[in-house]
Amino acid sequence: MCTHILIVEDEARLARFLELELCHEGYAVTCAADGRTGLETALAGNFDLILLDVMLPGLNGLEVLRRLRAEKDVPVILLTARDAVMDKVSGLDMGANDYITKPFSIEELLARIRAALRAGAAAAKKTAVLRCGELALDPARHTAAYGGTALQLTYKEFLLLQTLLENRDIVQTRDALLERVWGYDYAGETNVVDVYIRYLRQKIDDRFGVKLIHTVRGLGYVIKGDGAP
Ligand code: CA
Repeated sequence: MCTHILIVEDEARLARFLELELCHEGYAVTCAADGRTGLETALAGNFDLILLDVMLPGLNGLEVLRRLRAEKDVPVILLTARDAVMDKVSGLDMGANDYITKPFSIEELLARIRAALRAGAAAAKKTAVLRCGELALDPARHTAAYGGTALQLTYKEFLLLQTLLENRDIVQTRDALLERVWGYDYAGETNVVDVYIRYLRQKIDDRFGVKLIHTVRGLGYVIKGDGAP
C-alpha cells in the first residue's frame, strides 16, 4: 500500500518541486495551494502525513493545524518560512509532530518524513481505549470523557492524560512526563508539568468531585483508583 502525503503549500514552484521529489521516492502525493482547501482535503482524505506551510492565504497553517487536530491525529510537519520561534512553539503545542525551516534540503525533509511516519505507525498501534474509574480516553479518536461527559482538552493536556493512563498506578516523574509530552529539546519552564496537571485536575477531579490524579511528593504524579476522594 502506497504512503499518501498531502502537501499544503501556496508557493507553486516549491509545491511542484516537493511533489516531484516525493513521487520520486515512491510516495503518492496530493497538493493543496491554500489553507481552506488544505484543511478540507486533509479532513476528507486518508493521508499518512501532511506537510503544512505556516504562511498560507485564506487560513494560515497554524489555524489549519488547530482545526485538523480537533478531528485527526495524522502526522504533520510544519514548513516555516522564517525562523520564528512563536510559530514553532505554538505549532508544536497545537500538535505538529515536527517542523522544518525554509530553505531546507530535500534530504533533511525526507529524513524527517521517514521519522514522522515511523512515529505515526508506532502511535497507531496504541489504539485501545484507556480507562481509570469513570474516566475513558480513546487515543485513536482523540476523545476523552468522564462518565460519558466529553472532556475538552488541549493537545498537550490530552497527551499528558494519555501518558498517565498508559502508566496507570505507576508514578511518573516530572522529567519523564516532560520528555514524553513536551519532547527532549523542550527549553521552556520546568514547572510546565505542574501547570498542566493543575489544568487536568480542574477539568476532571474538581469538575466531577473525584480524585484520580495523585501527587507523590518529591517524585511526580500517578493516576490510580476509582476516583473516590
Ligand atoms: Ca507560504
